[in-house]
Amino acid sequence: MLKLESMKPIEFQCQVNSHKMITPTVFETSFETHQPLPFDAGQFVSVIVPGAGPGGRDLRRAYSIASSPENQHIELCVKIVENGPGTSYLNRLRPGDSLRVLAPYGTFVYEEKSGRTVCFISTGTGIAPFRSMAFSRKFQQNLPPRSYCLLGVRTEDEILYEQQFASIPNMAFIPTVSQPTSDWNGFRGRVTDYLKSVGSDFPWLETEFYLCGNGGMITEVKALLSEKGVSKASIHQEIYYK
Ligand SMILES: Cc1cc2nc3c(=O)[nH]c(=O)nc-3n(C[C@H](O)[C@H](O)[C@H](O)COP(=O)(O)OP(=O)(O)OC[C@H]3O[C@@H](n4cnc5c(N)ncnc54)[C@H](O)[C@@H]3O)c2cc1C
Repeated sequence: MLKLESMKPIEFQCQVNSHKMITPTVFETSFETHQPLPFDAGQFVSVIVPGAGPGGRDLRRAYSIASSPENQHIELCVKIVENGPGTSYLNRLRPGDSLRVLAPYGTFVYEEKSGRTVCFISTGTGIAPFRSMAFSRKFQQNLPPRSYCLLGVRTEDEILYEQQFASIPNMAFIPTVSQPTSDWNGFRGRVTDYLKSVGSDFPWLETEFYLCGNGGMITEVKALLSEKGVSKASIHQEIYYK
């Protein structure tokens, strides 16, 4: 079988199909590639940002693929960073516009482990690779006995893909909101606060943990998992920024 992780990334010419805001600060952009882009759920593309670097050189920015490998189009889920060259560029692209990406990159991929619980833990757009994993054929055709998707955001209007994750059998989608409005009835706090609150009810040692998003969250969650006795082999991570 073709080993995708070892596949050398190549450049793809792409055309944008759609651009839409999915929260007040996150947009989803969908595009097609000039030839099929084979990837494993969890991998990312490196977008070429033309002329945005020093001396007018091109820059590159990494984005996890948020759509499943079986999906016809590539979808990205991008948080707008003020004055950020990568996000400003992608946010300007509209249907019909072209872009170039190098892909596939990354070893943060979903690995089937029979009988094991799966726990995806993300902050913000760190949920993107989990959407690809959870809707991949690999996951859907052999659903884990139980799976969780934790998503940490500041305000409840930043929750991503809730309906979609909630529709997956055996999956609990748990948004945690650190600065909610008074109307919020869900969990208040960060993903680490949630994990501390579940205590021994959680099958810590029977679970594969996938962590994605900001580096601070990942460091804290790993420390907590280590206290619970979770082995390093059961923790998989992708850091977006420190
Ligand atoms: C493997 C990998 C996959 C990634 N996938 C995604 C993705 O699917 N969606 C996505 O939005 N970003 C993703 N990122 C982050 C992305 O590569 C850029 O760093 C980000 O879009 C900012 O780029 P910029 O040029 O606009 O801003 P820059 O000027 O480069 O700003 C960088 C700063 O923006 C902040 N920042 C970066 N990413 C985020 C974020 N996601 N949410 C909040 N603040 C952020 C940090 O403070 C960081 O120091 C990924 C990063 C890596 C390494």
